[in-house]
Amino acid sequence: MPETLTTTTTRPCPGCAAQIVTDPRFPAWCPACEWNLGAEPPRGRWRRWRRARDHARIERLYAKLAARPDDLRVGHGAPWFLAVLLAALVHLCTLAVLAGSLWLLVDGHPFLKPLGVVGLGLTWLLRPRLGTWRADPAVLAREQAPALHALVDRIADELGTRRPDRIRITRAFNASYRVQGLRRRVELSLGLPLWTALTEQERIALIGHELGHGSNSDQRRGPWLHTALRTLEAWHALMVPHAGDAFRRRAAHTGAIEDLVAWLLLWCAGPVRLLHHALHRLTALSSQRAEYLADEMAARAASSAAAGSMLGKLFLRDTAWTRVFQQSAAAQNRMLPKGTDPVEEFWTGLGEYLESVPPAEHERRARLSARDMTAVDVSHPPTHLRVQLRTQRPQQPAAVVADPSDWAAIHHELAPARHRVAHELLGL
Ligand SMILES: [Zn+2]
Ligand SMILES: [Zn+2]
Repeated sequence: MPETLTTTTTRPCPGCAAQIVTDPRFPAWCPACEWNLGAEPPRGRWRRWRRARDHARIERLYAKLAARPDDLRVGHGAPWFLAVLLAALVHLCTLAVLAGSLWLLVDGHPFLKPLGVVGLGLTWLLRPRLGTWRADPAVLAREQAPALHALVDRIADELGTRRPDRIRITRAFNASYRVQGLRRRVELSLGLPLWTALTEQERIALIGHELGHGSNSDQRRGPWLHTALRTLEAWHALMVPHAGDAFRRRAAHTGAIEDLVAWLLLWCAGPVRLLHHALHRLTALSSQRAEYLADEMAARAASSAAAGSMLGKLFLRDTAWTRVFQQSAAAQNRMLPKGTDPVEEFWTGLGEYLESVPPAEHERRARLSARDMTAVDVSHPPTHLRVQLRTQRPQQPAAVVADPSDWAAIHHELAPARHRVAHELLGL
């Protein structure tokens, strides 16, 4: 490891005078008084109130789960039944638009027939979408990566979940699990930057979590509720095509009439937003529980320790991206020493950098994440709560381990993906 990566100094904290260890690569901060932690509270009382309300709700959900840590199974209670009914209402709306349009076309007044055509177009836009199974250059086929597929299959078999139909290698600092198309085929995506940050056993934990989605009964991912949520989003996009731009337009001092129209549209789309929010709230507890259950499966596959440390690495997402931007700038300015392979240099550099992140920076990221309740995406519970629940659960040994020869084969199989993703990230 280059010496410059590990230089640290000690100095007194300007806030409480405690001695703090600083690393020039990361912001200096104080663990004792949280001086310069970096979290800015949102501006405005309304935003602060909303944030406090959202955080309190997430904590209530966690408290419910933590109170029954041995019962992570997802049940079908009253909220689920209500959500299914609301989803039915959404699907019935689409059916009604279809039926009305067909009636207008077949039996309607000639002047109204164009309205029928518009209705059919609307039905097409609002149809329940199950996702399409397209050819994708990020897919690593079974023949290209037999060792990786064999490992993933072993983890799926151990957890009693479905083997994925295909594996994608992406540039995300994340991984995902999707069920696509009418045939409900399974796609596992593994982000190479995150993969690079993980140890071998943590990679098994990551795959274990994602495959756990195949049998954790996440209600939001079931076709009935999932398609209803997507339809509501399509309704909203149709009614408020530039929802996010309204404020930008106001900032740019555009016409008052335009603003009025934007607000009217936003107001008319209120019931759609309300229905979407209600569906999310009704399935929130089950969805969070399903994610914790997937973490439990990660622990079963890879050991509790590996699942916990894998989740801890998720705090490093911003650290990883900062490094990628630096590497990208260096590569584009041709600042690499002559004769170095930019691709291998990139991955080794990123891996070494993430490995050299000092405990104080890990702690800073973890505290920031806890303060802001950040999660890998909207469907996941805040990462710090996932880490916390790991420490409260019974410890499990690893059910799946791979030989060094398997890892060497997987590393070799990922070479083309490393090349592609490095070029995408470096902008070469
Ligand atoms: Zn201090
Ligand atoms: Zn998940």
